[in-house]
Amino acid sequence: MTSETHPVHGNITGPIVMIGFGSVGRGTLPLIERHFTFDRSRVTVIDPVADHRGLVDERGFAFVQAALTEKNYEEILTPLLTAGGGRGFCVNLSVDAGSVDILHLCRKLGALYIDTVIEPWLGFYFDDALSNGERTNFALRRTLLKERKRHPGGTTAVSCCGANPGMVSWLVKQALLDIARDSGMEIEEPKSDDRNAWAKLMKKVGVKGVHVAERDTQRACSPKPFGVFWNTWSVEGFISEGMQPAELGWGTHETWKPKNARGHKKDDGLGLYLEQPGGDTRVRTWCPTHGPQFGLLVTHNEALSISDYYTVRDKHGDVVYRPTCNYAYHPCNDAIISLHELFGASGRIQPLHHVLSEGEILDGGDELGVLLYGHERNAYWYGSQLTVEQARSLAPHQNATGLQVSSAVLAGMVWALENPEAGIVEADEMDFRRCLDVQRPYLGKVAGYYTDWTPLQDRPGLFDDDIDRKDPWQFRNILVR
Ligand code: NAD
Repeated sequence: MTSETHPVHGNITGPIVMIGFGSVGRGTLPLIERHFTFDRSRVTVIDPVADHRGLVDERGFAFVQAALTEKNYEEILTPLLTAGGGRGFCVNLSVDAGSVDILHLCRKLGALYIDTVIEPWLGFYFDDALSNGERTNFALRRTLLKERKRHPGGTTAVSCCGANPGMVSWLVKQALLDIARDSGMEIEEPKSDDRNAWAKLMKKVGVKGVHVAERDTQRACSPKPFGVFWNTWSVEGFISEGMQPAELGWGTHETWKPKNARGHKKDDGLGLYLEQPGGDTRVRTWCPTHGPQFGLLVTHNEALSISDYYTVRDKHGDVVYRPTCNYAYHPCNDAIISLHELFGASGRIQPLHHVLSEGEILDGGDELGVLLYGHERNAYWYGSQLTVEQARSLAPHQNATGLQVSSAVLAGMVWALENPEAGIVEADEMDFRRCLDVQRPYLGKVAGYYTDWTPLQDRPGLFDDDIDRKDPWQFRNILVR
C-alpha cells in the first residue's frame, strides 16, 4: 500500500478525542489521519505522560496532559467532545480510565466511542479488598452488559475492539465458514447480526472450543537486562491482566474442572476462573509456524464474549451448546522471561517497564489467530501472520503486535461511523466481512491451516495419568498441571 492508495473510509464530523497515547495510541493516530477526513483543528490527545507529545504537536493537534479519573472525566471530556458541533469520536486507548463510565458519557453527548478493553478505574486490578471473582473479566464485562441493558440502543459504542479482544471475533466467523465448506457441509452464511444462526452453525460444525492462539516471535536487538519488564505492547496492561485470575468461557463438552475452579453467581455456567494468576497458568495450544506450544491462560474479554455469542439454548432458555474459549498466549520471549522473574519473586513487579518499539526489534512477528478444535477436521487455525518488517513498511510507530491492534481499532471506527446508532456492541456483533476488509491490508499474511495436532500428542507419557485419552480436546488435557 502506498500513500496514494490509502482509501478514505469516512468523515468524522465532530471533534476527535484520543485518551491514552501509549504504544497503541501512537500507532492508531496515523491510521486515523490516513483513512478519515476530519477537522484537524479539533483533535485532542489526553495522556498524563508527555513523553511522546512531540508527535501530537507536530501534527498541530491539542495535547492535554492529564490522567482521567472518576472525579474529573466528565469535566475534561464534555467540552472536548462537544465543541464546534458535529458527531464527536472518543477513542479510548488508555489504561486506568473507566471504559463503562466514559462510554456512558459519550453516548449521552451523542459522540461515538471505541476502546480495546473494558478498562476499570485505577486501583481495580490490585485491590485486595475484592475477591478474585470480583477481579475477573466476567465481572468487568457484566458492568458493560448491565449498562447496555439499562440503556439499549442509541449512539454506537464499540467495546473491546483491538486485535484480541476484537479482530479475533471476526476471524472466528471466517474460520467457521471455512471449516463448514471444507467439511462439505451445505450451509447458508448467517446474516452478520443473526447471533442465533451463528451459534447454531458452530454447533452444527461440531466445534468444541476455540483458542485464541498467539505466538509473538519478535526478538529485541539487545538482551533484556534484569529487573526490567519488556513486552511488545502495554507492560502495565499485561501485568494487570496477568495478575487477574486465569479465566475462560466454559463449554458444554467439558467433563472435568480443576479443583481451584470457580463459577459466578447468577450465571448459567459461562464464566470459569481459577484461583491462580493467568500470567502463571499454562495451556497447550498450536500455532502454524512453530506448531505445538505453551500459551498463557491470561484472561481476556473475548474468551467470555465468544463463548457467550455461540451459546445455543432450547426453548426454555437452557443452554444446550456452548464452546469453550480461552486465550492461549505465547508473548515475546522477553515478556516470558519478565513474567518468570516477576512470579519467581513472589509477584514483585519490576520497577522499570518498557514497550519495545519497532526500531528496537531485530526480527520476528506476531502470529495471532483462532484455533477452532474438536470438529470433524480436528483443528483449524485462522489468523494473521505479520512480521515486524511488514509492520515497519505498512505504517509508522508500531511493531507487528501494535499494528494488529491499531488496524482493528481503525476497522471498528469505520464500522461505528457506518452504523452510528447501533448502541453498545461487542466485536462478535459487528459485520466481520466489512471489518476484515478494512483491516486486512495491515495484517500481513491472513491464512488458515488445518492440523492433526491434539493436546494428547507428543506427551512423553511418564507423568500423564490424569488425562482423558478418549476425548483429546478436554480442558483436562489442555491445562498444563
Ligand atoms: P501503554 O501502556 O503503552 O499506554 C497506555 C497509555 O495510557 C500511557 O501513555 C499512559 O500514560 C496512559 N494513561 C495512564 N493512565 C491514564 C489515565 N488515567 N487517563 C488517560 N491516560 C492514561 O498501553 P498500550 O499498549 O497503548 O495499550 C493501551 C490499551 O489497549 C491498554 O488498555 C491495553 O490493555 C489495551 N490493548 C488491547 C489490545 C487488544 O488487542 N484488545 C492489545 C493491546 C493493548
